[in-house]
Amino acid sequence: MEEINNTQIDEDLFIADILSKVKTIAMVGASKNWKRPSNFVMKYLQKHGYRVIPVNPGTAGQYILNELCFASLTEIPIKIDMVDIFRPSDFCAEITREAIKVGAKIVWMQLGIKNTEAIKLCKDANIDVVYNKCPKIEHSKLSGALGLAGFNSNFISSKRPNIQIPPPSARNGGIVKSTELETLAIHAGTKPDAATGSRGMPIYQTTAFTFDDTDHAASLFNLQEPGNIYARLSNPTTAALEQRIAALDDGLGACCAASGHAAQMLALYPLMEPGMKIIASSKLYGGSITQFTKTFKNFAWEADLVDVSDLNAVKLAVKASNVRVLFAESLANPDGNVTDISALADIAHDAGIPLVIDNTMATQVLCQPGKFGADLIIYSTTKFLSGHGNAMGGAVVDMGNFAWDQGRDYFKITKPDSSYHDINFYESFGNHAYINYCHANVLRDLGATMAPLNAYLTLIGLETLPLRMKQHMKNAEIIATFLKNHSKVNYVSWAGFDDNKYHELAKKYFTNGFGSVFTFSVIGGYEGAKKLVENCNLISHLANVGDTKSLIVHPASTTHRQLSIEQKEKSGLGDSIVRISVGLENHKDIISDLDGALSVV
Ligand code: PLP
Repeated sequence: MEEINNTQIDEDLFIADILSKVKTIAMVGASKNWKRPSNFVMKYLQKHGYRVIPVNPGTAGQYILNELCFASLTEIPIKIDMVDIFRPSDFCAEITREAIKVGAKIVWMQLGIKNTEAIKLCKDANIDVVYNKCPKIEHSKLSGALGLAGFNSNFISSKRPNIQIPPPSARNGGIVKSTELETLAIHAGTKPDAATGSRGMPIYQTTAFTFDDTDHAASLFNLQEPGNIYARLSNPTTAALEQRIAALDDGLGACCAASGHAAQMLALYPLMEPGMKIIASSKLYGGSITQFTKTFKNFAWEADLVDVSDLNAVKLAVKASNVRVLFAESLANPDGNVTDISALADIAHDAGIPLVIDNTMATQVLCQPGKFGADLIIYSTTKFLSGHGNAMGGAVVDMGNFAWDQGRDYFKITKPDSSYHDINFYESFGNHAYINYCHANVLRDLGATMAPLNAYLTLIGLETLPLRMKQHMKNAEIIATFLKNHSKVNYVSWAGFDDNKYHELAKKYFTNGFGSVFTFSVIGGYEGAKKLVENCNLISHLANVGDTKSLIVHPASTTHRQLSIEQKEKSGLGDSIVRISVGLENHKDIISDLDGALSVV
């Protein structure tokens, strides 16, 4: 809320203060229909101890959720603390005048509702005003319940949480806000366990969660109340990881999946319908090219691969009316191509589609794509995010900025969903709609859920991400320079070199370094490259990247084997190309291993 003009933490505390003081709420526009958002919100607020009086001339004299409904605020016979407005913005000034007349201390306009005259009236009357927010969502965020579904609450605390709001009486309610990656990587999304005080995040190794009663169960299944139902949809350990990953991108929320590939399917599913098209960079990880161009065909999704450094070609490609998304990697695997994220974001947004950036190779330590206009960010957490190479995983982060009702058609999010009694996700959850849909529909029905043990392992790995990435970058520079000067190496494709064609873009988009996964060409073609990888001893010959261990692979015979010759050429992966992922061993040992292996080429 710009008018309050202060930081997120102050805004959170401002809302926490309101929700802790308020006892009676008049809900203008409350509906009898249990499928309407106002009915959800009323029920949720009642459950959390608020008395909610419905106001709606159409149902005056009838009962809504056991409360008598009034035709106007002035008819309510008890004192009202807050007026919650579920009416179009144009009605808000008049309702606010009535609210002031009846002595309300807070006027709250719901998600999507803002009226500047009403805001001014409140300020002049010295009463608090909130707009374009939902008290149910805010209450859930503050109490931690929504956090269980993976939203970024922005809270860091070393104190055992008090589930109730207001927050504990410590300074600032025991809450810290940080924008520093080193702090977020360790703290975001976790706090001491409320039940035991355990400082480590527990592994909630369970498949299901108990219901308080049938009404609670129904509210959860109706998505009226946030919470865990079944671990295919959500799990508290995974939710902690989701919050941490989202926080590192300064995103709104995240949804984890069983692998990076699962995260891509998860991210695209809410946007795509049969016959719709993905425009993707031709310089994607080989497995992604296969997934997009072959496997997704079975969903009747089309995918066109475009050289995203040719912005005119991208502009042309996104014009087709069935295009729903533009997809690229910030730092492409394996060739190290750097994407002009801001330019792609402009093109995507002009066409009314979101930009999705796979940030696996750069991680948030090098690049936060959301700062440059990306709407959704994908990770294979299998790589640097976990770092240890012991847990598969993936995530999609939503920056929360894309207006799903204003671009092309995104009907899964903006039209009634018959699998949830016709709720409209965008109407019910505002900018939380996309991430909610990922959990509530995509994980529910496609089932590519991250295991809680993997979430735990990834959380632990993430704690050292900033430290590790900086050391990866230092080692990468030394190894890239060594290779560049080696007589058996034709060239090295590393964006840190001044003469690399992506150097300027890398300087614009990256901090802390230029990537530690890159390719180089060895003399002797296919056979030369084979000899090199087979003669490394310290460096492991395998198909992964982003591990603490140095790794090497020959894409033409492995990761990119399934691609056509044309696709290989487009990806820049000829027969002589070797990919290295520079690890955290002492650089002298990595050099000695490479030097030894190159001596037999
Ligand atoms: N995106 C990139 C850039 C990758 O390098 C990979 C895997 O190598 C993936 C996605 C797929 O991730 P996963 O192997 O976790 O499914």
